[in-house]
Amino acid sequence: MNDVLKPEKIRCDACPVMCYIADGKAGACDRYANHAGELVRLDPLTIIQGSDQKLVPFLSGGSPQDWDGDIVKGNRPFVTAVGAGTTYPDYKPAPFIVAQDVDGVDMVTIVTEGIFSYCGAKVKIDTDRHIGHERDVVYAEGEPIGHVMTSEYGSKMLSLGGVEHLTGGSKKEGRVTCNALLNLCNREAVELNIGEGDEQISVVVQAGMAPVINGDVEKLMRVGCGSATIGMFAKQWLDHADDVVVVDDHITGVLSEHEAGKQLDVPPTGIKIMGRRSTPGRYFQVAQPGTGWGGTNIDDPLSILGPFNPKVAWEGLRLLMVSTTGEQSAYYELDADLVPQPASMPKVLIGSTDLIAENCEPSVCSVLFMGGAGGSLRAGVTENPVRLTRSVKDALTHVSCGGAESYVWPGGGITVMVDVLDMPTGSFGYVPTPALVAPIEFSLRVSDYRTLGGHMDEIKPLDATQSEGFRKVSQNTRGHDPMSHAHYRWSKGDPS
Ligand code: SF4
Repeated sequence: MNDVLKPEKIRCDACPVMCYIADGKAGACDRYANHAGELVRLDPLTIIQGSDQKLVPFLSGGSPQDWDGDIVKGNRPFVTAVGAGTTYPDYKPAPFIVAQDVDGVDMVTIVTEGIFSYCGAKVKIDTDRHIGHERDVVYAEGEPIGHVMTSEYGSKMLSLGGVEHLTGGSKKEGRVTCNALLNLCNREAVELNIGEGDEQISVVVQAGMAPVINGDVEKLMRVGCGSATIGMFAKQWLDHADDVVVVDDHITGVLSEHEAGKQLDVPPTGIKIMGRRSTPGRYFQVAQPGTGWGGTNIDDPLSILGPFNPKVAWEGLRLLMVSTTGEQSAYYELDADLVPQPASMPKVLIGSTDLIAENCEPSVCSVLFMGGAGGSLRAGVTENPVRLTRSVKDALTHVSCGGAESYVWPGGGITVMVDVLDMPTGSFGYVPTPALVAPIEFSLRVSDYRTLGGHMDEIKPLDATQSEGFRKVSQNTRGHDPMSHAHYRWSKGDPS
């Protein structure tokens, strides 16, 4: 008979999966492990320290309050929810409820890692290249994970994830969606495929990096639409070109017809554009969307021109054609038959196309995490969850994610959106339900916390939370301070 008792597995109750974890092993999400019978959170709690990078003896006995001063001007630490752990299903108080004096006001921060089934990412891709039509499906690993949204000025927009893909499709769709969101939010590169069949376009997206579209690294976002480009640069073309066409997938501009040209007394040239005329000098749909000139599918700009009007045009007419990023340009002069012939571009016009390119910003991908702080998560903060929602709306409670500034949407609930680049690295995790794990912190006055039914008995002073294994990160470049009095209504003279 074997007398050696097998160590018991312990149960993790930090998410609905409820893993039984053997000694020395980690649970399904790799966030929790069994260390000699004790359930431990594997990632360290992350603390943001002040911007001057000064290390203080936080781990060796010194009080964190030694990190004096405002987070912007000094060293006051902020306990984020990154690595804090979860208290699913949150009938328990949040893992850390931390009090500190902030410039004479008793403040408390409630930190928890939320398990977000209702979450996704909004992705902004600065490019005029065609990456798919509005409503096209976005795939990762062959599974649908989102769709193309309405373009914004100079940028393509994707909506990824959401409960419909995480839970509403097949098991594989949910798993792949969760994995893509996790990687995107943790700033890793993810290959997405947009559209169907032969038309499908590959886009590699990584927060803070240029997109890679069908294998090409995108460089610049357009300076503006074709019409705006005419407005910006019209003066520079005077005397050097008789007409200028700025090719753009959305609004192609024509100098001689545009209001800017009229105000500069540019005479008509008899030019004809093969598109749908909007207002003078502004044309829609000159070509199909694509990866050619100005986000169209054309490589030859002359393909959008009809014949010049012989009653108006003249031999030798000088024509500049340029894309909205200045990356493509060509110069022509009309021959005796009024047909544009390529000619060498005058130096001054080369300078002006270079200036268009110089005015373009680098093409970058932005990834914004978006999630809803639901009823059970709020219960970790207060016994009366709706009061937390009201307190956020009343600007008595400030919401941050990993210490980063979050945008709280108007209307019901606490629906937050945050730029993942503002958050500490590795802020996101997952659980196999599937759902994303993301940090969220609620900061408010202790007096307000009491009013909204907070877990007052669980409040600990900042120095009581110290333990080995903290990860200290410096403040993000935007210098957001969740504890700054400026975020709170009471700082603006409202006594309530
Ligand atoms: S998957 Fe859920 S239950 Fe399993 S270890 Fe992770 S948090 Fe705990």
